[in-house]
Amino acid sequence: MIRRIATLTVIAGCVWAFAGCEKKEEPKPADALQKAAADAANQATDIAVIALLEKADAFDGKVDKTVSKCAKCNLGMEGKPDQVIVYSGYTIQFCSPGCKKEFEGDVKKAVMAMNIPAKK
Ligand SMILES: [Zn+2]
Repeated sequence: MIRRIATLTVIAGCVWAFAGCEKKEEPKPADALQKAAADAANQATDIAVIALLEKADAFDGKVDKTVSKCAKCNLGMEGKPDQVIVYSGYTIQFCSPGCKKEFEGDVKKAVMAMNIPAKK
């Protein structure tokens, strides 16, 4: 009899622990999924941003990881070596502190908004 109670107690304890555990972990799969989706979106944005930086880098005729034309001015102005943002290994030059400042807030968004002119 005592043994039976002990067994039941162990079983009850297991069930309780399992239920407690499951309850705690319940929001996790959704969180993980959301995080994975956010990571994937972030990664896709990074790839797009780097592709645009590559294109902007090539625009000036020299592939050297330096965007020498002002990125904020859609590469229409010469960038200055003392007005730069370094992003993902690219040195992005700007024509003025104002252009740099506008770009600096959200570099990713600014690069995505860039309108790279077609090469002549
Ligand atoms: Zn500019």
